[in-house]
Amino acid sequence: MNLSYISTRGIDTPKNFTDVLLAGLAADGGLYLPETWAALDTAALKGKRYADIAEAVLTPFIDGTIEQADLRRILGETYHGGGFDHPSVAPLVELKNGIHILELFHGATLSFKDYALQLLGRLFDHVLTRSGQKITIVGATSGDTGSAAIEACKACKNIDIVILHPKGRTSDLQRKQMTTVDAPNVRNLAIEGTFDDCQAIVKTLFSDETLRHELNLSAVNSINWSRIAAQIVYYVSAGVSLDKPASFIVPTGNFGNVFAAWSARRIGLPVQSLTLATNRNDILTRFFETGAMTMEGVTPTISPSMDIQISSNFERYLFELMDRNANAVRDFMAQFKISGTFKVPDAVLKKAQTDFHASRCSEAETLAAMKHCYDATGYILDPHTATAYHAALATKPPSPVVIAATAHPAKFPDAVKQAIGLNPPLPDRLAVVMDKPERFTVLSNDADIVKAFVRR
Ligand SMILES: *Cc1c(COP(=O)(O)O)cnc(C)c1O
Repeated sequence: MNLSYISTRGIDTPKNFTDVLLAGLAADGGLYLPETWAALDTAALKGKRYADIAEAVLTPFIDGTIEQADLRRILGETYHGGGFDHPSVAPLVELKNGIHILELFHGATLSFKDYALQLLGRLFDHVLTRSGQKITIVGATSGDTGSAAIEACKACKNIDIVILHPKGRTSDLQRKQMTTVDAPNVRNLAIEGTFDDCQAIVKTLFSDETLRHELNLSAVNSINWSRIAAQIVYYVSAGVSLDKPASFIVPTGNFGNVFAAWSARRIGLPVQSLTLATNRNDILTRFFETGAMTMEGVTPTISPSMDIQISSNFERYLFELMDRNANAVRDFMAQFKISGTFKVPDAVLKKAQTDFHASRCSEAETLAAMKHCYDATGYILDPHTATAYHAALATKPPSPVVIAATAHPAKFPDAVKQAIGLNPPLPDRLAVVMDKPERFTVLSNDADIVKAFVRR
């Protein structure tokens, strides 16, 4: 028997790792979690290469559903096969003021999303080759996820990928990272509408049962368990490289990356404290202050990848917080859907506050944090990472402090310029996309037209 994965809503039948990989969301609307958390001897991993730490972390989760030799080869190819431009893969850089930056921008598209998606693409391809299936991945993007998913799938024989972006509403750089990829299985669609229109079209496609089965539609959004599992690895790699348990601070949107940090602690990584940083869209910080999860509108910020209304991955933590009571989770989620709010009892809030600290950061504070860091240390932060730097200064957690740097500053040149008056140097990987020819198809904001295109 392999390790089972169960749904946070408790109705779906248990599945193994590869089933959960392909399914993404559980059929009952819940998210998958392992039925038990294995314990990892993290001390034994000090000094090991990234792929070896990944193998130690991931093997109990995969639990025999992928041959060990195949897993080892896939991890070597993913992390040491040229896809990441730093030998440590996720280097830990100590700044002059004692704060450590965990640089998660050494992958193809310069955000942390490459670390999980590069592996996910290869795992998908491996499993699909075994089963003789082909799938079509369809997704909408406002920025980082689309390019990371395209880079991850462009070499996959069994995957076609179609990414919708709102025409003229992404940055030039973000669009070019998607549209300059020259691969026959990649299609970019520029939709004449907003990001919400793109998302609505994708939803319509997925709700068409005929199309879904005809093309084996699949998604790679952050509710996929394998993305969380892959993200645990860099927390372990950073944690074991330090002499003392670290205080981690993670810029947060969908609660995925910070849940990976929580999971690293859950399997045995000694951690001093865990802080989530939000921008002015602070639904999560309000939860950790009051115990109430209450939806408000989203305000656009200079850290756009954290501009969220609902943190989908929070449901995983809620399930753990409620001692894995799926009925309670179902009730909370039903209340939230109907009224836009739910509240946990005070005793549960107290427990949550021992797991996480939370910090919010206004636009002015984000810019000030970027300037403070540059003036004090010469290091240029991207605006997402800056919200975590702000938390470090504001809450002063015990050292060593480790900040997850979720993107390279060159991806957000306007915010950097505004904060420190300089254009961040463009890494080679970004410089090359600037002059390459773009390939995309403009379609009107109409689900039927997109459907016809995807069929062709
Ligand atoms: C996606 C993203 C985030 C938010 O990560 P979550 O896992 O959704 O919390 C933060 N920063 C950057 C740069 C991102 O691309």
